[in-house]
Amino acid sequence: MRAVVFENYQTFPELKDVEKPVPGPGEVLLKVAGAGACHSDVAIFQDFTEGAPGAQKPPFILGHENSGWIEELGPGVEGLNVGDAYLVYGPIGCQHCRACSRGQDTYCENAATMPYMGVGLGRDGGMSEYVRVPARNLVPLGDADPVAAASLADAGLTPYHAIKLALPHLNGGGRYALVIGLGGLGLLGVQILKALTGATVIATDMKPEAMAEAERLGAVTVPGGEGQVERIREITGGRGVDAAFDFVGVAPTVKTAMDSTARQGRCTIVGIAGGSYDWSFFTAPYEVELTSTYWGTIEELYEVVDLYRAGQLEPMYTTYPMDRALEAYQALVDGKISGRAVVVP
Ligand code: NAD
Ligand code: ZN
Repeated sequence: MRAVVFENYQTFPELKDVEKPVPGPGEVLLKVAGAGACHSDVAIFQDFTEGAPGAQKPPFILGHENSGWIEELGPGVEGLNVGDAYLVYGPIGCQHCRACSRGQDTYCENAATMPYMGVGLGRDGGMSEYVRVPARNLVPLGDADPVAAASLADAGLTPYHAIKLALPHLNGGGRYALVIGLGGLGLLGVQILKALTGATVIATDMKPEAMAEAERLGAVTVPGGEGQVERIREITGGRGVDAAFDFVGVAPTVKTAMDSTARQGRCTIVGIAGGSYDWSFFTAPYEVELTSTYWGTIEELYEVVDLYRAGQLEPMYTTYPMDRALEAYQALVDGKISGRAVVVP
């Protein structure tokens, strides 16, 4: 079968012929419906070096945002039907620690002893015709379109987790949220904020078409550049936003997020660009919570699927056949994707 393989650190992936996988005990083989190209993959093949935090040892097949139909059940798997459609919860922890027990494999207490972080992250992912995954990581899609749903596995789940944790700041009238970076994650983030809160959503990106899309989804947009923070504060009546979400994570966006946040607000950095922030007692807003979040829990992925099936999330995506998968990654590197590129093998 054909697959997009990450062969070496700081090397663009390759489209290769590889063996069709065989599901192990407790696993299923999925026929891939869709695999989203996440910006984190760019960090994996372009930025990370051996031993760097977040680095996953090559070679492996990329794709940590996957949906598909059950093709085959591995030994010991019962109660699932061949042909049914599922979304894949990508993180894989030890599955017996406290964090894994609550479905939060992202914060597995034994992560240091695990040979990989998840599907498409150190072990083979879904940028291929078939992928093997633990049966326990499947979230049922019912009759929902698995291609449209694919990006929800990360681009939906990650903002959902970040926003849910910020809800105490967004409950009540007259609240404001800021979304920086309106790509795969950010555009779903805007929709999740709209679905879960009554907050006014302020959004920004460098790309006018991404801002136009956010406006269509109900956000108020503010362009970047000189005076941006003042403009955001003006919209909030001078107070600042109750919760900011930075889906870029470079130093200037982290600073914009922090400078735009109200006292006692919450500022969540989701983008992994590694930007740092120069905190000091008198310049940071009082009692502001500056935090990061990583992906989400299995239970939250069920909730994301519920939102999607209720018609409250509309993933924006462009499909690419497998023989153009590398083009999708190149377009992602070049900043030319709107929403998500989803590879449909
Ligand atoms: P994407 O490429 O789809 O979208 C990024 C968007 O940010 C683009 O629209 C781009 O124009 C915009 N942008 C870039 N620089 C900007 C700037 N300086 N100011 C304003 N807008 C800017 O990326 P994505 O797949 O949505 O991922 C977003 C980030 O989140 C990446 O860093 C990715 O690695 C990270 N990520 C984190 C997690 C997590 O668990 N924390 C999970 C998935 C992705
Ligand atoms: Zn664990």
